[in-house]
Amino acid sequence: MGLYIFLIFLIFFAMIGTTLYVTGKNKKEDTYTDLDTDEWNCPECGFLVQAGDKCIYCGTEKSA
Ligand SMILES: [Zn+2]
Repeated sequence: MGLYIFLIFLIFFAMIGTTLYVTGKNKKEDTYTDLDTDEWNCPECGFLVQAGDKCIYCGTEKSA
């Protein structure tokens, strides 16, 4: 019985460790490509631009 609970804990922590590892890896890749996929609101027309530095709606360029 004791060994059984120990094994369940072992698998449980292994799963948490794997999840944290994958999440951390994804987060790292996200920040790496953050410059290209950053959303911003156009100050001219209020359109939410998904990608790029130019509003596809009115052509206004993203301000720094
Ligand atoms: Zn715009």
